[in-house]
Amino acid sequence: MSSALIPSFRAAVRRRLLPWFANNARDLPWRAEPRPPYAVWISEIMLQQTRVDTVLPYFRRFLARFPDPAALAAAPLRDVLKLWEGLGYYARARQIHKTAHLLVRDHGGKLPADPAQLAALPGFGPYTSAAVASFAFGHPLAVLDGNVIRVFARLLALPDDVGRPATKKKLQLLADALLLRDRPGTVNEAWMELGALVCTPRNPRCPACPLRAVCRAATLKTPEAYPKKKKKMKVPHKIVGAAVILNAKNQILIAQRQAEGGMLAGLWEFPGGKIAEGETMPQCIARELKEEMGIAIEVGPHLVTVPHAYTHFTIELHAHFARIQTGRPRHIECADHAWVTRDQFDSYPFSKADLDIIRALRALSKPPRYRDFFPKPAP
Ligand code: SF4
Repeated sequence: MSSALIPSFRAAVRRRLLPWFANNARDLPWRAEPRPPYAVWISEIMLQQTRVDTVLPYFRRFLARFPDPAALAAAPLRDVLKLWEGLGYYARARQIHKTAHLLVRDHGGKLPADPAQLAALPGFGPYTSAAVASFAFGHPLAVLDGNVIRVFARLLALPDDVGRPATKKKLQLLADALLLRDRPGTVNEAWMELGALVCTPRNPRCPACPLRAVCRAATLKTPEAYPKKKKKMKVPHKIVGAAVILNAKNQILIAQRQAEGGMLAGLWEFPGGKIAEGETMPQCIARELKEEMGIAIEVGPHLVTVPHAYTHFTIELHAHFARIQTGRPRHIECADHAWVTRDQFDSYPFSKADLDIIRALRALSKPPRYRDFFPKPAP
């Protein structure tokens, strides 16, 4: 990028972008003054890969239940995961819980104001460190998130692939150069807000944009051609089975995923797993339960099929009623298990796909009864 553009962009930031932001910024709870660093941090973590509308109720509930790092650190992880339930990317919840412990132990229960100390905390990458340091403490550090990258790529009509580290470095230099030292947090937020409200991925509202006069992509009438990105690989699709196992007391078996590593670690689920080549769905579920919990089961009627998209793959989750034929649940590939009624699910944190199974169970006109699905005694 030509450095000759910097002065005109800086002038546009001060004369156009900031006044636009002052008039158009959304009234969001984490922007309420004064801005406690803790609230800024929690909002930034929740907003990663997640829309503002989705985050709002979670943020309010979370701050009400855990108003500061000490309250968060004192809570069991299960309570934290329960409040996070449905928000996805559960590693974030585990990480902030861990970080809260560190804050209590090493920083007097507060987020440190020093950017280097912030950056050393778990889960504080370059973006989160710059966001918390600038929004909460006024440090002159420029943020570069997906919204900012899109706006910059369009302003410059940048031909480079924005997925490449070299391009990100270039854009970070631009963000640094355009940061006004007297209002770093406001400038950062203004770029992000412009990307969220005006310079949107589809149908950017160029005529309403305060930076229209300095935007190359708008001049070329090709804003949606930017940012340039390498074509994404097709995401894999997995077929997965889950067992809703009933016992003679009409309780349902749920299992807790291993606590360390892996997706959805520590969450509860209806046990099951991925179908293998040539297997029918009942065969898949029976095999998975043998491997995971050491029980032989009889797989009964289908309850629901749930489609769900994760970042790197999609799944189709087929839930079937089942009962144990032999064995007692053991923790071979799971951390714990529990027998619960339909009304007790709320005490356990589940992933979104499993919550859909719970919804299907609750939508049944009456609680599922063992003898309705398995009228004959177990062999
Ligand atoms: S003029 Fe259009 S493309 Fe350029 S920054 Fe504004 S909204 Fe984005």
